[in-house]
Amino acid sequence: MELQLSARTLNNFIKHGLGTVESVQNFFPRKYHDYTKVSVVCPENDGKNVLLVGKVFSIESSNSAKGMSYHKAKMSDGHAYFTVFWFGYFDYRLKHIERAVVGGKLKYSNGFYSISNPDIFDDVSCLEAYKRVVPVYKKLDGISADMLVNTIGNNLVDIPSYKHDDLKMDHHLLFHEDAVRALHNPKSLNEVRLAKESLAYEEIYDYIENLNDVKQDIESKFTSINDARLKNYIKSLPFNLTSSQENTVKDILMNIRNGKCVNALIQGDVGSGKTAVAFSLICAINAKSVLMAPTIILAKQHYEAFKPVADMLGIKVALVASNQKNIEDADVIIGTHGVINLDIDNLGLIITDEEHRFGVECREKLHRTGIHKVSMSATPIPRTLAESLYNGIISVYDLELPSERKPVKTYYLTDFEMIAKNIEFVLDKGDQIYIVCPKIEEDETLQSVEEMYKFYKKRLNVPIGCITSKTKKAEAEEIMSSFKDGSIKVLVATTVIEVGVNVPNANLIVIHNAERFGIAQLHQLRGRVGRGSKQGYCILESKVKTERIEAMLKTTNGFELAEEDLRIRGAGNLLGTEQSGKNEIIDLIMEYPNVYKMVKEDLASG
Ligand code: ADP
Ligand code: MG
Repeated sequence: MELQLSARTLNNFIKHGLGTVESVQNFFPRKYHDYTKVSVVCPENDGKNVLLVGKVFSIESSNSAKGMSYHKAKMSDGHAYFTVFWFGYFDYRLKHIERAVVGGKLKYSNGFYSISNPDIFDDVSCLEAYKRVVPVYKKLDGISADMLVNTIGNNLVDIPSYKHDDLKMDHHLLFHEDAVRALHNPKSLNEVRLAKESLAYEEIYDYIENLNDVKQDIESKFTSINDARLKNYIKSLPFNLTSSQENTVKDILMNIRNGKCVNALIQGDVGSGKTAVAFSLICAINAKSVLMAPTIILAKQHYEAFKPVADMLGIKVALVASNQKNIEDADVIIGTHGVINLDIDNLGLIITDEEHRFGVECREKLHRTGIHKVSMSATPIPRTLAESLYNGIISVYDLELPSERKPVKTYYLTDFEMIAKNIEFVLDKGDQIYIVCPKIEEDETLQSVEEMYKFYKKRLNVPIGCITSKTKKAEAEEIMSSFKDGSIKVLVATTVIEVGVNVPNANLIVIHNAERFGIAQLHQLRGRVGRGSKQGYCILESKVKTERIEAMLKTTNGFELAEEDLRIRGAGNLLGTEQSGKNEIIDLIMEYPNVYKMVKEDLASG
């Protein structure tokens, strides 16, 4: 149902994909501030959102250099002095209060405590009304925070139930409706946790239920293999296949020959040669095949790589940018996900590169049609999890890196001067450097990418570029190409560099605030260096040496890291990190291993 709003406001909501009642119900807070208890000013609370009560000594107002009004309250909570700052609006009725309740992010620097632009500043007599958990939503262009909160509040009606709310009850989880309400208006952080678990249950349940359906697709009529063509393809390669590549191809082809309908997941680090496996299979099968990539750029890259070989082997290959094109006489069709909607006669094999939600996405289309399905991913699912999840449904193959690649040497450093010295050392050898900072919201106290850029620009004597999420696309591309051609030596960036960047001369990556990244992401970032024959280096900077950082220091093997990730997450250590974002359902299962267990048991007994 469409939201009841003025046309202009509705339009702004639609722009963010939030035009319906259901979509705003499911637009959940990004995080929560716990103002349920009065806290104290102390070093442990640095960087945290806290509720404080204290004596007000003075409140001064003035105008800043830019003409903005600016207010400053000096306070003490009996533990320490602190200052509260505002820019812009201030309620002058509060000018002479003696004791105040303040809620906001406490910052400690150079021996001083402060809170700027507090969420709460009021007379202490109102304290009880402020004691609650406050949801914080993502900021949306054109929609004020109040408008968003009100619209959500007004539309928490007729929330549907989940088909297995009854099963959830047995686990003391919340009904769908109550979970949705709790996430928007929680009584405590514990309730938030419970609500998240409850929704995780639903998603995991649906996913595994779908997987179990896929299982029934066991036979295929596409059993014919062209051995000679496969041999010629392999002969055309400028390298020998690694044994893991060879075994993967062999095993899949054996299953095809035996009349099984193949459903396979091939996982291997970036650079492990998944493409060669895909092309081997395409050349081997005597049926039409489709290769799907997540973006048109990657589809083009595959097409350009395969076209010359295809010509040589007499295979007709077509690149489909949209789904109207004439593909009648092509043997191999390369494109993005839209390709799945094409009607292709005699289609025997579908390969998806870097699929996010493996196994289910195309299920409707492919169900029981006997088409072989192969998916390729660079974010490995831990072996133990893969076995429990996909056992008997999907065969999982692991590719190892070709042996000539040298593992990236990884260091943990905290001293910026030391880091800068290492950078200079690498620059002197003529190599290039990535410097990565986490994406941060404006209210955070971490070093921002802009600050790091300034620091390094002053410190280093070479051309430096900076790309943030705010950098315009054209400008970012220009900076990127200057980095590629070597005219920029150091690139400071947020994680934008993760996506498909290949600069062989970049041999050092420095990751600041490494504690903020998930293992999968640290691993992907580290994979940006050491791609040529030269030794690659990675420096992890962080105030605390977390378990994830320890894991990164211990191994460069993506499979071992995935296993470590599972272990660490199992121990309940997740808040505030950037997850890989590549495989939502696996991330969810890893975040809620206990919920996953519940679902498995319920499905087994149902
Ligand atoms: P990914 O698994 O990330 O998709 P690619 O298929 O793009 O990796 O391969 C990365 C690079 O490794 C390519 O340049 C490819 O030619 C090369 N490559 C693939 N297999 C081998 C191998 N067995 N030995 C050496 N190099 C290989
Ligand atoms: Mg690839």
